[in-house]
Amino acid sequence: MTSHPFDLQGKVALVTGGNVGLGQGIAVALAQAGADIVSVARRPSEETGEQVRALGRRFLSIEADLGTLEPIPQLLARTLEEMGGLHVLVNNAGIIRRADAVDFSEEDWDAVMNVNLKGTFFLTQAVGKHFIAQGGGKVINIASMLSFQGGIRVPSYTASKSGIAGLTRLLANEWAAKGVCVNAIAPGYMETDNTTQLRADADRNRSILERIPAARWGKPSDLGGAAVFLASAASDYVHGAILPVDGGWLAR
Ligand code: NAP
Repeated sequence: MTSHPFDLQGKVALVTGGNVGLGQGIAVALAQAGADIVSVARRPSEETGEQVRALGRRFLSIEADLGTLEPIPQLLARTLEEMGGLHVLVNNAGIIRRADAVDFSEEDWDAVMNVNLKGTFFLTQAVGKHFIAQGGGKVINIASMLSFQGGIRVPSYTASKSGIAGLTRLLANEWAAKGVCVNAIAPGYMETDNTTQLRADADRNRSILERIPAARWGKPSDLGGAAVFLASAASDYVHGAILPVDGGWLAR
């Protein structure tokens, strides 16, 4: 037990998609709280590595495609070997494809479901076995407003993020008594590559902004506090929660 309930010193956190966007914001926040970081993405994570190392924390970048299950055993083995342990998993990697439901292709369905839902489940299964064997761990899934709402023109994304909400609850039910906390953060509308198209559409941009009580798009750093809370001992009795960090969007 660390002296401060939010202290992550001595912990290793693996963040999928930790190279850019929300994953980068979460990785840096966890490092600020004391954690060493592993980032897994298809592209390198150099920028995040520089920020994490500048905070005095250790950093490992693993390049892998989480749209397939094949890299999972190796990335877990490398993490345990090179970092000496694993205590926090942040399932952040995710993609979105936009088209009207009547035109939506099987390719756009499978691509999104494979990364956002199938890859997330099987990585969590592998890491979960390790957490259960060591008597505890923290899983943080990145959900969405579309874990609660229907959205428009993003059928596979909505299905995947609604699925993430269900999986978060199922895994919490199975693993809570084994010392593993499974929870999710549901970001609102955030300024990242994922929302470039939305923000470029003047009408959609205006209507989204008008509905956000905080009157601004969120930034990756806005997720830091929630991530540190759910990664730390402060949340040891929190299981199956889906915590919105949305500028008040769901309160409207
Ligand atoms: P982003 O900037 O597009 O980042 C997506 C991340 O996922 C990148 O790090 C990307 O790295 C990684 N990734 C994608 N496909 C991958 C694959 N096959 N294998 C490994 N890594 C992969 O988007 P973001 O907004 O930060 O999104 C992060 C998460 O937040 C996603 O789950 C997204 O659905 C969720 N979210 C975003 C918003 C928002 O408003 N932005 C709102 C709610 C939820 P590589 O491309 O290098 O692989």
